[in-house]
This record gives sequence, structure tokens and C-alpha cells, in this order.
Amino acid sequence: MSLDITTLVKKYNTPLYIYDFNNITNRYEELKGAFGGKKSLVAYAVKSNSNLAVIRHLANLGAGADCVSIGEVNRALKAGVKKYRIIFSGVGKRDSEIREALERDILLINLESEAEMKRVEMIAKELNVEARISIRVNPNVDPKTHPYISTGLHENKFGVSLDSAKRMYIYAKKSEHLNPIGIHFHIGSQLTELSPITEACGIVADLVRSLDAIGIDIKFFDVGGGLGVVYDDETTIRPADYAKAILSQIKGLDVTILSEPGRYMMANAGIFLTSVLYEKVNGKKRFVIVDGAMNDLLRPSLYGAYHKIEAIRKEGEEKSIADVVGPVCESGDFLGKNVMLPKMNHHDILVVHSAGAYGFTMSSNYNTRGRSAEVAIFDGKDYLIRERETFEDQIRLEESCDSNWQS
Ligand SMILES: *Cc1c(COP(=O)(O)O)cnc(C)c1O
Repeated sequence: MSLDITTLVKKYNTPLYIYDFNNITNRYEELKGAFGGKKSLVAYAVKSNSNLAVIRHLANLGAGADCVSIGEVNRALKAGVKKYRIIFSGVGKRDSEIREALERDILLINLESEAEMKRVEMIAKELNVEARISIRVNPNVDPKTHPYISTGLHENKFGVSLDSAKRMYIYAKKSEHLNPIGIHFHIGSQLTELSPITEACGIVADLVRSLDAIGIDIKFFDVGGGLGVVYDDETTIRPADYAKAILSQIKGLDVTILSEPGRYMMANAGIFLTSVLYEKVNGKKRFVIVDGAMNDLLRPSLYGAYHKIEAIRKEGEEKSIADVVGPVCESGDFLGKNVMLPKMNHHDILVVHSAGAYGFTMSSNYNTRGRSAEVAIFDGKDYLIRERETFEDQIRLEESCDSNWQS
């Protein structure tokens, strides 16, 4: 992104998220293109960045949406994603969410347990519809990523074992109100090695073949998300290699390949800008205190995740090690540890890189801090896509209750 960051900060203030929409386009096209002439649908994982403008941009490119709550389904619909490109996943769907998803007639509901299948069947019966479903299988492969974002092992809460999946498909096939059309797995996030994906694909493709042999015709082969991105110096998987690995495992199957990238689509398209408030030294430890905090960007605190942090307009100045910390009253409130930074002054700006995914969406109002504004850059122009949250925004739902408690 070649941006005039100083101008953007003057215009929008900090803390601030900025997303490069041209970068998102390129990412989408590269992945979609990697599947070539093969039937495929890229269903963007809305949880990674659910700003309506982001979803709308992807919808315009032809993307679908992978949603994990009815709120996300409704965001996707509002942003113009076609209903036949929306899928609804998640381990714990409420009855009301299932009902609404069926009423909205989305592409499919992704089931994560036998008990959930029975709920979906019951609700579909009440509505007198046939629920299109897929089943999330847990192929029990080690994705070789951070344990908090690993999901494809039996010890993780996600999906069902291959045996239960098969039983569920047989049940669903017989049910008047279930139509099993898809199979799904998602083994983890920030995957940088291809072999676990290839392995999982192979296992799941075998299950599809054995289902085919008993007359169950799977039309959607959903490989989940998880493609890793560069935060530091990782070597990531090239979309072309990713597609090739998947295709090599599903030879002979007539399926549409569904993929659910979130991080891949958004992480590197976004930066987080924060202004320096103060510097201080406690004993030997140097701290740079900034106006952005864990409530704005939680990943460092939550996972110990690394984000590259850079001072702008300080090229060539002598650097030393510092922790970059926010104003929130938690020792865990940091954006970076042991960052090499030059001497920082009040109002200097730091760029936190690769912050477009799981940044804003994980933000909160902790310490009664308003959420950041979000800005899109497209063809060199900037567009405000979410206003900075005000104090009034934060207390609105409490104020409306004032008379309940004390009049
Ligand atoms: C979180 C999630 C994704 C997206 O994961 P990324 O690592 O951001 O690509 C895709 N599918 C499911 C089911 C998920 O839970």
C-alpha cells in the first residue's frame, strides 16, 4: 500500500484500521484463478473481517460467505452476497439461528454434531422445508499451527469423526427434511505447510467415494479456510500449489470445491495505525505507550501473535528495543514486545502490519474505549467504512434502560 499515512491520520485520527481493497481483489483473483476451470466457490470467512464494505467488495467479485452466526449470515446478505453462496458453520447454533438460516434459504448449513443434525431436522420439519446440509468431519490431522487455532484434531471441539459422519450421512439421506449435499473440514488457521491439507483432503475424499458407493451424492467438497499469511518471515502456501494439492486428491469426483479463506484474504490487506503518547523506562525496560490497545487489536495479547511494527518517517535513526503497550489496565495489553524502534515523540505514528484479519472483529469496548474507525483505500482514494465509536454509541443500550433501574 503506498499511502500517505500522515494525511490519513490527520483526516481520520488514530487508532485506525486501513484496508487496501485492491489488494483484496488481487488475493481473491489469485485464489479463484488457481482452481482454473474446475467448479469452485470462494466463500469468504466473514469472521476475519466483517465490515459491510469489505463483504460487499468481495461479493462484487463473486465471492460467497462462510458464516459462523446468524448475524454474519445477515451481514453477508445485507452486503449483497447471493443466498446460494452462503454457508453457515459453527459448533453451537441456536434454534432461532437454524430457523432463520432455513428461512433465508442459504446454500447449506454445516453440521458439527449428531445432536445438531436432529435439531436441524426438527426445525426443517416445522418449517416444512428440506435443509441442505454438509457435515464437518474432523480428519484428525495435525495442522502444525498454533494450538489455539488448530481445529482438525480429535482433541479440538470441531466436527465429528469419520465414523459418525458416515452414520449421519446415512441418516440424513433417509430423512425427508435433510438433504446431504456437502462435506466439510477445516483443520486450522495460519497453515503454512501443504502436507496436512493434502492429507486431510485425501481422507475426506475417500469418505466421499465410500458415500458415493452407497448412493449418497456429495456435490460440495469444502476444504475450509486456513491459508497462512506473512506476519514475519513465514514461507506461505501459494494458491496455485494449494489448488493443485486439493485437485490431486479429488480426482474422479464431480464436486464443486468450496474454500473458506479469511486470514488469507484480509490479513495482509490491512494495517493498524496508532499514535505514540509517551515513552518511559522502568528499570532497564523501555516502553512506548501508544493510543491503540488490546481492545483494538487483541491477537498479540490473546495468542502472543507477532505483528511487525514500524515507525514512519524515522528512517536511518538509531534504534533500541522497546515494548509497545496500550493504555488498557492489563499487563497483557501490548501490541509488540522487543520491537526495535527509534526514539519516539508524542504524535509519532506506528504502523502495525498484517492487521486486516481478526483485528477489528475481535475488538471490544474494554475500559470504555470506543472502537477504531475503519478506512478503505481503493484505486488511490480513501473511504471511511466505519465511523469511530463515540461514548454515546457505547452507552446507548444502557441509557435506554435508565428508567428500569431508578426513576
Ligand atoms: C475461521 C474459519 C475459517 C477461516 O479461517 P482462516 O484461517 O481465517 O482462513 C474458515 N472456515 C471455518 C469453518 C472457520 O471456522
